[in-house]
Amino acid sequence: MSTIDILGLHKSFGKLPVLQGIDLAVEPGEVVCVIGPSGSGKSTLLRCVNLLETPTSGTIHVGGVEVTDPDCDIDAVRRRIGMVFQQFNLFGHLTVRENVTIAQRRVLKRSRAEANRIATLNLERVGLAEKAGAYPAQLSGGQQQRVAIARALAMDPQLMLFDEPTSALDPELVGEVLAVMRGLAAEGMTMLVVTHEMAFAREVASRVVFMDGGVVVEQGPPAEVFGNPREERTKTFLHRVL
Ligand code: ADP
Ligand code: MG
Repeated sequence: MSTIDILGLHKSFGKLPVLQGIDLAVEPGEVVCVIGPSGSGKSTLLRCVNLLETPTSGTIHVGGVEVTDPDCDIDAVRRRIGMVFQQFNLFGHLTVRENVTIAQRRVLKRSRAEANRIATLNLERVGLAEKAGAYPAQLSGGQQQRVAIARALAMDPQLMLFDEPTSALDPELVGEVLAVMRGLAAEGMTMLVVTHEMAFAREVASRVVFMDGGVVVEQGPPAEVFGNPREERTKTFLHRVL
């Protein structure tokens, strides 16, 4: 069973067609990197997976559950999906530890001790165990994004969605976040990653998906998409960004 299975996905905002027939599957343990120009629908695609956007038509299954079925318990599905955005959205009035425990306690009903134990494990995973008592404003952007990743991991997701997780960071802080993501990939985490970091996609992705104009123009192993793109639109895009 695929972790994500998207079939015939269309999404319009009013009259503006943004996704125009996307078919895409993500298998367990795969790292799928989505690349493409600004406005091509990458974020909308990601947001449809956990129904932050409602598809206009088409079906999406996550872990075998059809999220596009009106009777779907979307909260139950979202609990199994970690999402990391460009903006980290940490609670500024809570410490790092509290940021990583709050959803564990409220959503998963874990005890304080259990939530703290899991927070520590996941802060260690992102290299920030010593920052548990700090407030977000005391951290760099790269550290804040790593806390956001730890917060998502603490919910034991079966799937992680990343939407340009390093785009808001100063260049010298990008590497530490990508290193954490590389580690997750190596552990076998299933990941769907929208990114402008072509070197990361080339190195870490099991598959690269190039989107333009709301469709998947081409996809394949990174060596093929980067080294020998078949479509003109892919070539043009790669010439611009590489
Ligand atoms: P990308 O992430 O590839 O840059 P997006 O998915 O964010 O692209 O956006 C694709 C298109 O959809 C853009 O033209 C954008 O302006 C439009 N769009 C995205 N979200 C909304 C929205 N909530 N309402 C109206 N238009 C939107
Ligand atoms: Mg986007």
